[in-house]
Amino acid sequence: MNEFSLINDYFLPVGSNREEVILGIGDDAACLRIPENTDLLVSTDTLLSNVHFHKNWNPFDIAWKSVMVNVSDIAAMGGTPFAVTLSLTLENADKSWLESFSKGLNVALKAYNIALIGGDTVCGPLSITLTIHGRVPKGKLILRSGGKEGDGVWTSGRLGAAALAVFLWENDKVDLGDRAFIEDKLKHPVPRVDLTSILQKFASSAIDISDGLSQDLAHLCQSAHLGAHLFEKDIPLEPLLSRYVKDPLSLALTGGDDYELLFTVPIEKENDFKEVLNKNGKTCYKIGFLTKEKELLMTHQDGIIKPLLKGGYLHFK
Ligand code: ADP
Ligand code: MG
Repeated sequence: MNEFSLINDYFLPVGSNREEVILGIGDDAACLRIPENTDLLVSTDTLLSNVHFHKNWNPFDIAWKSVMVNVSDIAAMGGTPFAVTLSLTLENADKSWLESFSKGLNVALKAYNIALIGGDTVCGPLSITLTIHGRVPKGKLILRSGGKEGDGVWTSGRLGAAALAVFLWENDKVDLGDRAFIEDKLKHPVPRVDLTSILQKFASSAIDISDGLSQDLAHLCQSAHLGAHLFEKDIPLEPLLSRYVKDPLSLALTGGDDYELLFTVPIEKENDFKEVLNKNGKTCYKIGFLTKEKELLMTHQDGIIKPLLKGGYLHFK
């Protein structure tokens, strides 16, 4: 199997057909055309073995996660994903690995109606880079920097399950059902594009939580030149955390890989926002508000206010 038959067998048939794709896999470049009233979003994420996944993971899951971390970045901008390129570095052309990876890629892309429009395939240490293309109606883009003093700070879901899975990876005392649940959270994140149209209407800023709530909130606040005040009692912790760790809050604040959204909503839009969430059967959690003082604070259960615990995943540390 050479590079070309590999592309034909495992990548040409994968993903959805999209009207934006004038030309996909097979030429020197893909060609895209998006409607005039639309802006193009582009984002890249690389996944490395033993950093973002274990080498012994099912290739199906590696492909799924590679797609979803990229989709999450488009969701955080208020956009809709429609096409990806895949740059794949493989140690060897193992058929069963490629078959499973290709299947996972196909299922993941079709789940979000995304086309695979090209890529590159080379030999070397296993690494997967996806570049994702999304679209957003003009004027609907959501930035990290858009929040104003007083805006409510919200998260789209419970936090900490993926970090718990990493924390308990080699702990054999974990209940089997619990292990299945948390490993599923780590391996099969569900990016929140389901909230895109709601957030386009109500969010003043957004970021996806890939490196932990504390670190991603710090990024959002830096961009907005503001600070934030959170309330411990309102942080939606994954309930399983308290069964396995002494300090669930720390793990949820500093643990990454949840791929929920962190966003802000102006107070004057809050009631309408809650009503629309309700109507659509969605649950989001208000955890605090943006402040003029550029610091991150938390009111704890005992009423004491402290600087927000720092930390989160860093490369090159
Ligand atoms: P070139 O030599 O012009 O860079 P390649 O031989 O690398 O082209 O790729 C041939 C075609 O297959 C191109 O359209 C490229 O985008 C596509 N392609 C290569 N690798 C992948 C991959 N892993 N997934 C999807 N498409 C790929
Ligand atoms: Mg090439």
